[in-house]
Amino acid sequence: MTENKPYRVLLFYQYVTIDDPETFAQEHLAFCQQLALKGRILVAGEGLNGTLSGTVAHTQKYMNTMHRDPRFAGMVFKIDPADGHAFSKMHVRPRKEIVALKLSDDINPNKLTGKHLKPETFYKEMQDKDTVLIDARNNYETQIGHFRNAVIPDIKTFRELPGWIEQHLSDYKDKKILTYCTGGIRCEKFSGYLLRAGFKDVSQLDGGIVQYGKDPNVRGKMYDGKCYVFDQRISVPVNRTDEDVVVGHCHHCGKPCDRIVNCANPECNRQYICCEDCEKTYQRSCSDACREHPRNRYRLEHQQQEKPAETI
Ligand SMILES: [Zn+2]
Ligand SMILES: [Zn+2]
Repeated sequence: MTENKPYRVLLFYQYVTIDDPETFAQEHLAFCQQLALKGRILVAGEGLNGTLSGTVAHTQKYMNTMHRDPRFAGMVFKIDPADGHAFSKMHVRPRKEIVALKLSDDINPNKLTGKHLKPETFYKEMQDKDTVLIDARNNYETQIGHFRNAVIPDIKTFRELPGWIEQHLSDYKDKKILTYCTGGIRCEKFSGYLLRAGFKDVSQLDGGIVQYGKDPNVRGKMYDGKCYVFDQRISVPVNRTDEDVVVGHCHHCGKPCDRIVNCANPECNRQYICCEDCEKTYQRSCSDACREHPRNRYRLEHQQQEKPAETI
């Protein structure tokens, strides 16, 4: 891609031992602020998980500096050109895990994980009729896009995934399993979990959907809809061929739509699919109760234009 945009959004992770996550987080925050970066980074004893936005020069400096640290020398950055920041603040937070699977006996992906498949191999293998393709993401992500023919677990958080698999896929342990997620980080642990649970042949999409969409050989083929991302863009395109389709339906009127909005009730704030017409009709609210909420943001935003004449 040769887009000349002034900003970039980075997505990255590394499973590597970090001895003192608290101190690391403090110092790393200062370093990110120096570069005027914005975004969210999680630090744990098991590694680093982050997404950042900043100018081309500042994000480049961030990547170069990280690559000079032996712990992050091999860290892969997924880079998206952008017109501006994709976050409003900069957070670096120490955590127990960089993705919360919350197993009593945690998986270390450096010791146990599925085979990493490059996009081209993944594309070929997912078309094998004996393959079971599993989406490792949450339901608010998969509702606007996923690989064609994938098994889509109905889960709200990643830690619900092992239970869902036990309940629904325990008869598939001899099948060939392929897993995928947004950037690859969740599959590192999830595929390790599957192997430990007795699944014999487990592979994962290296670099996730984001990298798959950028790969010049597959250009997002067989991915339907958009990819949910955890920043202000909310979603990004994946399939760059002419087979692009809309996945998802307006919560109110049911027509095909992949436009995600935040419910205008500040206490609900649920991200849901809503078309432009229904946004007006239902005041961007996911339910009657949310619409009637006294602090409904849609009403507050639109009140100013409807100032009554008697205020003179
Ligand atoms: Zn609608
Ligand atoms: Zn709501």
